[in-house]
Amino acid sequence: MLILVCNAGSTSLKYKLFDMPSFNLIVECKTERVGRDDAIFSYKNHQTRFSEKLEGISVQDYTAGVELFLSYLLGEKSGAIKTINELNAVGFKTVLAKGYYGVHELTEDVIAAMEAYICVAPAHNPPYIQAIRVFKKLLPDCLMVGCFETAFHTTVPLFRKIYALPYDWYEKYGICRLGFHGASHSYISRKIREYAGEHYKLISCHMGGSVSVCAIEDGRSVDTSFGFSLQTGVPHANRCGDIDAYIIPYLLSEGLSMDEILKGIDKQGGLLGISGVSNDLRDIQEAAEAGNTRAELAIEAFCDSVVKYIGAFYAVLGGMDYLVFTGGIGENSVVVREKICTRLEALGVVFDSDANASASGDAVISASNSAVKVFVLPANEEAGIAQTIYEKHRKNETNVFL
Ligand code: ADP
Repeated sequence: MLILVCNAGSTSLKYKLFDMPSFNLIVECKTERVGRDDAIFSYKNHQTRFSEKLEGISVQDYTAGVELFLSYLLGEKSGAIKTINELNAVGFKTVLAKGYYGVHELTEDVIAAMEAYICVAPAHNPPYIQAIRVFKKLLPDCLMVGCFETAFHTTVPLFRKIYALPYDWYEKYGICRLGFHGASHSYISRKIREYAGEHYKLISCHMGGSVSVCAIEDGRSVDTSFGFSLQTGVPHANRCGDIDAYIIPYLLSEGLSMDEILKGIDKQGGLLGISGVSNDLRDIQEAAEAGNTRAELAIEAFCDSVVKYIGAFYAVLGGMDYLVFTGGIGENSVVVREKICTRLEALGVVFDSDANASASGDAVISASNSAVKVFVLPANEEAGIAQTIYEKHRKNETNVFL
């Protein structure tokens, strides 16, 4: 069964084509910096060993990104399939839909529920809806499945999910902490289970264009830095993370429009907002090394926020056996990992800076006498999604909640 998984991040588009149930990875592809003129595109066909990387190309939106990928997937030299109809299912790492929290076939009702929550996930739902529509048009008879990112966090207890707001807002409007990045944190949890067995206290830090910290006990999410929307928690590439809600009425009273404020929160905030340099940590690190103080400030604010969540989740879990860094920043930024880990000595982390500097692939970056084992683990949300879809499809269960 050929399952294509599409992962539309807030700044990137990634795909993996799996032959299931063997998990044989046939194609992987990534476009970074979608929406910019300096996008980076990389494509690998593992069967034929064809690979290509294009830098500095223009990929203006997610529709253009999907079309570029399909031109390679079906291409004469690069292609893995001859016609698009060879795909048995396309899975999407969808984020949020009103009333749908698990794994669902992407019917028009589910897409409408995603549209209804565009105001809550403005950076994520529109790209997914665009990508889903392109695929649905090309493949009208193919099974399209959304694995919504909130599913993993349904185990967080209500006393931690509930906001201290009028209770009927929870009942009537569903206002509570939902949590996202479920596919990533659940994949990391399964990897840690391979080392730890059934019982473990894990803090998983997914740091990419979107960033979240998750507290996991014995494979179950017990807390997450994300709230009701993706504008919460740690600062993200363009999004603000946690802010005081009263900043909004105050800025309105100062004459800013709601659109201007939302743009600041959603597009011009986060690492970009603080640094004024870029939403990409690579650019910010380079600027900081060259002495740009706002770039330094962005890195410090980012790391500080992650450290605070780790401290809070240590208390929530009553300890920490494993700490994991994943996602584009988590996997690649030696500087960020060092800044975070060297502040966690009181929690039992003995950091190994040489191991950190040379980490690649699955790596341990704590010293052998560290009470907490610290890992860098490449994110592989797509494999988890392919497995879920394969199992649900086999049991004909695509319309059930997880
Ligand atoms: P998304 O959340 O959009 O899926 P990724 O997980 O791929 O994104 O993370 C992308 C981010 O990772 C980039 O915006 C950049 O900040 C960061 N990143 C990628 N490579 C590096 C690197 N070599 N050094 C530092 N940061 C990096």
